[in-house]
Amino acid sequence: MAEEPPLKTYRGNCHCGVFIFELKVPEIKTANECNCSLCRKKGYLFTFPGEGMTVVKGEGTLKKYTFNEGNTEHNFCPTCGTPVMGYNPNFPPGKTTAVNVRTIQGLDIWKLDINKYAGKENGPPYTPPKYSGPEPTADIEGAKLYTGSCHCGAVAACIKIKPLDSTYPDRIAECNCSNCQRAGYLWIYPKKDQVVIQGRDNLSYYVFGNGVWRKGFCKTCGVQIMNEPNPLTDEQVEALSADARAFRDGKMDWFPVNMRILNDFDFDVVMDKVQRMDGWNMAKPPYVNP
Ligand SMILES: [Zn+2]
Ligand SMILES: [Zn+2]
Ligand SMILES: [Zn+2]
Repeated sequence: MAEEPPLKTYRGNCHCGVFIFELKVPEIKTANECNCSLCRKKGYLFTFPGEGMTVVKGEGTLKKYTFNEGNTEHNFCPTCGTPVMGYNPNFPPGKTTAVNVRTIQGLDIWKLDINKYAGKENGPPYTPPKYSGPEPTADIEGAKLYTGSCHCGAVAACIKIKPLDSTYPDRIAECNCSNCQRAGYLWIYPKKDQVVIQGRDNLSYYVFGNGVWRKGFCKTCGVQIMNEPNPLTDEQVEALSADARAFRDGKMDWFPVNMRILNDFDFDVVMDKVQRMDGWNMAKPPYVNP
């Protein structure tokens, strides 16, 4: 009989800290990356804790989203949008709960071995929601139009940007700061006039740290859409540190978009261009794990 591996205790949480859990599992060295229509938009990296998960705080606070036959509940925090876990009672024992390892404190997800999981084949094909709004007004030579959406279709977007392929000249980034790691963003950096968002009313906004930015995610399915300067009052701007104010002033026309929202788009074409940003060590103020 093989010896059971020793168990390690991990603590995890959504970014805002409303939901906190613990895992008692063998050391996490791998995670599963699924290519289904929802996982690709959320950047989920799964581990299966079996019976080894305990909720420390916030039982019942996560919002559930289901699709297809509604078999798997995807649980995300309605306040900060962090995708925390999936639950499917029909999956084999030990596989009913899938936790997003992006939510685990102190785990370096860039060091994990990633197993590809073809979840796409489990359900009927996904028909991406269509964008039906106007074109962005920006005038950019050689630009292409890309459309994207959240999963449920309440929010859609159109982005006018240089072709996102091996010739793409600008930055594409993923970041390990407390929120980017959890949200699984793949950032592209268009300006405001390069993007149109449809269904703004269906976004929830999340603000943290120095309050200069706000992240938008779909209220219904939790897919993270974009980042934008947080509309602040004059008093709030005055109250910022000089650094934060200067940073904000220089980026008022920025409109970073999560590339994962793109529909009918093959990420493999640009994945070798993705830069890794050490946002965890740059964050001011630093994030305190709850
Ligand atoms: Zn939260
Ligand atoms: Zn999936
Ligand atoms: Zn949605």
